[in-house]
Amino acid sequence: MCVRPSGAGPLASGRELVEFVLAAHGGAVAGSPVPNGGLAATCRGCGVSFLLETYVQACPECRGVHAVSPLRASDPAAVQFAGRDFVLPVSL
Ligand SMILES: [Zn+2]
Repeated sequence: MCVRPSGAGPLASGRELVEFVLAAHGGAVAGSPVPNGGLAATCRGCGVSFLLETYVQACPECRGVHAVSPLRASDPAAVQFAGRDFVLPVSL
């Protein structure tokens, strides 16, 4: 990764990870498809199961923002939740 906002990184957790992925490569990573058809994720906000198809994606039910580090894109346990009050800066 070539973008490292202070205090965050590809192995950060929670909102720090979400913000890191959003900022990575000028935002080019966030909307890119996760390899292998996506990751099975469970929303940490409302509990619904959904498929994380891009590195940053909102829950289809509650719009809670989730992200996974490109370094851990094959690990469903690595999906991070930004928190109930986090809103995407742009529509993905
Ligand atoms: Zn949800």
